[in-house]
Amino acid sequence: MSQRPVSQTTRYDLDRAGLESLVAVEFPHVERYRIDQIWSSMYRHPADPEHWTTLPVTLREALSQVLPGALNAATESVSEGGQTIKFLWDLHDRNRIETVLMLSARRVTVCVSSQAGCAMGCGFCATGQAGFERHLGVGEIVEQVIRAQIRAGQRRVTNVVFMGMGEPLANEANVYGAIERLHGDLGLSARHLTVSTVGIVPGIRALAERPLPVNLAVSLHAANDRLRDELVPINRRYPLDALMQTCADYLAVKNRRISFEWAMIDGVNDTSADARQLAGLARRLRPSAHVNLIPLNPTPGYPTRGTPLERVHAFRDELERLGVNATVRRNRGTDIDAACGQLAAGQPVQIRPTG
Ligand code: SAH
Ligand code: SF4
Repeated sequence: MSQRPVSQTTRYDLDRAGLESLVAVEFPHVERYRIDQIWSSMYRHPADPEHWTTLPVTLREALSQVLPGALNAATESVSEGGQTIKFLWDLHDRNRIETVLMLSARRVTVCVSSQAGCAMGCGFCATGQAGFERHLGVGEIVEQVIRAQIRAGQRRVTNVVFMGMGEPLANEANVYGAIERLHGDLGLSARHLTVSTVGIVPGIRALAERPLPVNLAVSLHAANDRLRDELVPINRRYPLDALMQTCADYLAVKNRRISFEWAMIDGVNDTSADARQLAGLARRLRPSAHVNLIPLNPTPGYPTRGTPLERVHAFRDELERLGVNATVRRNRGTDIDAACGQLAAGQPVQIRPTG
């Protein structure tokens, strides 16, 4: 469908001023009030362009040529009676990414990708197993939320989490550009936006200097450098001490609670000693970090299993006893490979031995 050259601007790349300039150049005879109508159809009541019925058909079609969408729907998988929906998108250069829409009683959450692939090489993660292709642009990130909003229909997206494919803070400028758009134009509050990072220290520092106070989730998975070097290779560049100091600084500037993500891997990071070390790190932050425990989801390239649920709960109880709030995250969408760490956009993964 999309035959456009690599550099063409896509529908959600432009901010309002950019759209105004584009319309002025491409459609000099179009009245100014049409800009409001276009903007409203893009953000206030998002719809696919063929439903932008306030506009004349000719303008609608011409706009679609000049400002094509970035995402072509490849497949959509539905789980849990429609509560979890995974979208697979084709990008213009044949890369593929995934987005997950999760509906619950109180929230509508969209989990977006920030890169095609990921260069961080965490062995237990399907995206990491497939390797890195490229960063996503602002428009490619924002459009994921818009397309999910269109699919959600009457229900309004309440939360966006950067927990899909890729490492958002390795692509901080575009991720922050998307955050500004989601906040300013789609109207999401910063406290409902969460950036999950494997612990890219310069990226966290850059985010701390940005005006919007978004939530930060740090994927820890190990509370000592020896084990973390193994599970999360980027730890060799940004070890725990530097990471914790950076988290403390983020907290001081942003006044937002930080959470730690902990994928529970059977016999690897789920002992009492691990819980005690983790509690020690969580309590180094003031207020103490909240811990999200995620039983490891299966991926093709990592044979070790997730910790059995009983032990996950015991680990949580131990953290609570040590004064650290912890939640066991419900695994959603494992049947459609939409759960944490399972997004590979159909890429083959390298099978590695565990060690
Ligand atoms: N790159 C970012 C965000 C994407 S990964 C990060 O690593 O934080 C989103 C979350 O899924 C992270 O917390 C990651 O550690 C976790 N994850 C990766 N593989 C997983 C798996 N197989 N099972 C459970 N969680 C996993
Ligand atoms: Fe990349 Fe996050 Fe997966 Fe690690 S867990 S490989 S940082 S997407």
